[in-house]
Amino acid sequence: MRELRWTRGNNVEKREIYNIVIQNLPIGFSILDKDGIIVDFNAAAAEITGYSRDEVIGKPHFEILHGASDRDACPVLKHALSRKERAVAAETSIRKKDGEHAVLSVTTFPLIDDNGDLSGAVEVFRDISAAKRLERERKNILSMFAHDMKNPITTAGGYLSRLLSGKAGALTEKQTGHLETIREEIYKVSDLLADFLEFSRIEAKAYVLNPRPFDMEMALRRNVEAAKIEAEKKDIAVLFQASGEIPCTIVADPAMIGRAIANLLDNAIAYTDPGGTIRARLSGNASDILVEITDTGRGIPEDRLPYIFDAFYRVSRDSKGSGLGLFIVKTVVEAHGGRIGVASSPGKGSTFSFILPKADSTGITMK
Ligand code: ADP
Repeated sequence: MRELRWTRGNNVEKREIYNIVIQNLPIGFSILDKDGIIVDFNAAAAEITGYSRDEVIGKPHFEILHGASDRDACPVLKHALSRKERAVAAETSIRKKDGEHAVLSVTTFPLIDDNGDLSGAVEVFRDISAAKRLERERKNILSMFAHDMKNPITTAGGYLSRLLSGKAGALTEKQTGHLETIREEIYKVSDLLADFLEFSRIEAKAYVLNPRPFDMEMALRRNVEAAKIEAEKKDIAVLFQASGEIPCTIVADPAMIGRAIANLLDNAIAYTDPGGTIRARLSGNASDILVEITDTGRGIPEDRLPYIFDAFYRVSRDSKGSGLGLFIVKTVVEAHGGRIGVASSPGKGSTFSFILPKADSTGITMK
């Protein structure tokens, strides 16, 4: 049987197969001896580094890839060798033959002999410089956009308020009407921008929780009362119900949790038709508290549910929001050591819920 031949084949055949596989791997591959000397180097490794196989075989890999004569210059290998783990994955910066730097994603597999001694290592690596640069540029665009948009919007809003107050001269009814419309639109942009700024702070990991004892029942009641004002405009009822082991005092960042609850209630109102009902429920046991926001709104199709917490994701393009609200809720809940969930029936309604541990699991910086 032909397909079994190679398993029974002689060593020459096996060596050939090994060479074909290694040389044609689409990722960089090198074998180092216990001193970090390169003993094998495939075509992709040559392409990534700019060095040919002949140029590097027999040379210390830290000299080739790090421009240093010290094996400590390779943090990945050093880590792998010292801890003798099966595999260590890391990102490392190398200098290519042309002098340019590249960021590599490297996985190092130490080779341990029968006596438990290190006999070398296998490294597989990919050049992730382009992805890293794109990521940096994306973050720069985000923070530039968020910061530079804020000032003009605030200034425009200030001048509009002054015009509407009549301090800059009397206005006709028509002019007042037009300016009020402009102000409504500016509020919308301002809300989008607030979400966007929050997102860019989370992205920049510039968010540190400010935890303190926090009464979830009081916070929910307060948010429900605030939501009623908007809900009444759409003839939607907002009800609150608490059960289980109350009081539900936890250690949490009040502003962030308040923001998460408000986002869920805002969505429930936005995606529920007039005449609907929204229920906020709080329950708890010895270890956790559970918050559920249920609406009788349009619901979310099942195939969209996996993406609903992604940043900038909106089920339909006619949504007026930024698609950041649920991403922020998820980030806040997870930063508190909690979990978020959703259940929905299209046309009938949705329930968004989150569980938070009663024990203090904050002190975690938002990622
Ligand atoms: P947005 O600012 O667009 O509301 P979110 O991240 O808060 O952004 O929500 C993402 C999308 O999830 C929304 O655009 C909407 O399509 C859907 N969605 C969120 N909450 C609900 C809900 N309670 N009922 C139905 N759809 C919802």
